[in-house]
Amino acid sequence: MSYVDEIIEQVIAKNPDEPEFHQAVREVLDSIRVIVDANEEQFRRDALLERLVNPERQIKFRVPWVDDKGNAHVNTGYRVQFNSAIGPYKGGLRLHPSVNIGIIKFLGFEQIFKNSLTGLPIGGGKGGSDFDPKGKSDREVMAFCQSFMTELCKYIGADTDVPAGDIGTGAREIGYMFGQYKRIRGLFEGTLTGKGLSYGGSLARTEATGYGLLYLTDELLRCHDISMEGKTVAISGAGNVAIYAAEKAQQLGAKVVTCSDSTGWIYDAEGIDIAALKEIKEVKRARLTEYKNYRPNAEYHEGKGVWSVKADVALPCATQNELDIEDAKQLVANGVIAVCEGANMPTTEEATKYLQENGIYFVPGKAANAGGVATSALEMSQNSEHMSWTFEEVDAKLKKIMENIYHNIDNAAKKYGFDGNYVVGANIAGFEKVLDAMNAQGIV
Ligand code: GLU
Repeated sequence: MSYVDEIIEQVIAKNPDEPEFHQAVREVLDSIRVIVDANEEQFRRDALLERLVNPERQIKFRVPWVDDKGNAHVNTGYRVQFNSAIGPYKGGLRLHPSVNIGIIKFLGFEQIFKNSLTGLPIGGGKGGSDFDPKGKSDREVMAFCQSFMTELCKYIGADTDVPAGDIGTGAREIGYMFGQYKRIRGLFEGTLTGKGLSYGGSLARTEATGYGLLYLTDELLRCHDISMEGKTVAISGAGNVAIYAAEKAQQLGAKVVTCSDSTGWIYDAEGIDIAALKEIKEVKRARLTEYKNYRPNAEYHEGKGVWSVKADVALPCATQNELDIEDAKQLVANGVIAVCEGANMPTTEEATKYLQENGIYFVPGKAANAGGVATSALEMSQNSEHMSWTFEEVDAKLKKIMENIYHNIDNAAKKYGFDGNYVVGANIAGFEKVLDAMNAQGIV
């Protein structure tokens, strides 16, 4: 059996009940087969793949907190420090009831290659908790965040591990966590990114993932002589990624007609009203059912459905495995040109394969959504030089980074004979730098 297949089997056997982690490993290892096969003897001798798929460290802890009625609760906190070959661990904290060790490992594993693709010196990590901030008061969220950081602060630091936001962790949560870190460790340092502007945050970090997704999508289309101008775009999600993806898509002259949250989705034929979306989600923290109050002509539907809409470009920006084979078939039947992932692994393996076989330009999240973490690395740079750059400076750097990512993954795919396969291109391009660093640093 090939080394790659052996390791895939081993990962499944040693990490049962972690299907998302298996999926992420399978996709990466399948893509880098050409490199592994060509170096099999050395890789086996150095246990290269075993070291790649086993996190350097996994931290799991109890998070007790007290609600507004005086009742105590216990959640589970995680931080997976996956790979530090090219820099300090970097990756977000997900707060969502679905969080478990398998989810955090899949996200941490993806982060290794995503962070490498940014070209910046950041390793891969991820963390979070099964705590659900939805429906909690600000005081309850603060109580949770302080308790979470009381434990986490022992393991992180500006040059060690730098967490950030992800699903459920936004500016409010980062603020509470930063305050607690500073209080316990006595350090005002850039150990978290996505901070508020008044205490070390970077301009354009809020917009970065969504804007970056569009910079890459625009570059991809332009390289195929297609313009974003006048295109219809379907977006899922209504969080930080979706909102700023929609905003940039509209700035580029496209029309975004959908968005969604955990209970339903919106179809707005006239184009999503971004100001209304921001007010509902960022200010009121409310449901999308509210959208009709702003736009009476828009349709609200319960459940899933954004991929049933006719669109030229589809941007899944909600969560893992949200776009399945049936959705892919519908998108293809409706003439979609490109699918670029704003979320982490939102397309199932089957759906990805179907889209690629039908000639759709498909860019995986580790390339397409890397603008968020790239701008986090720019926030780290600003923090370490005790400076802040202008919005225009950060935004220009982000745009350049995303264009470079597109060309790097395109070139890697071509170099290894997989022209147009951006999944293979992203995995190979991300892996090459990590491999080089791992080889240089010996068996650690
Ligand atoms: N959670 C984001 C991601 O999936 C951002 C991580 C960061 O900024 O460190 O890449």
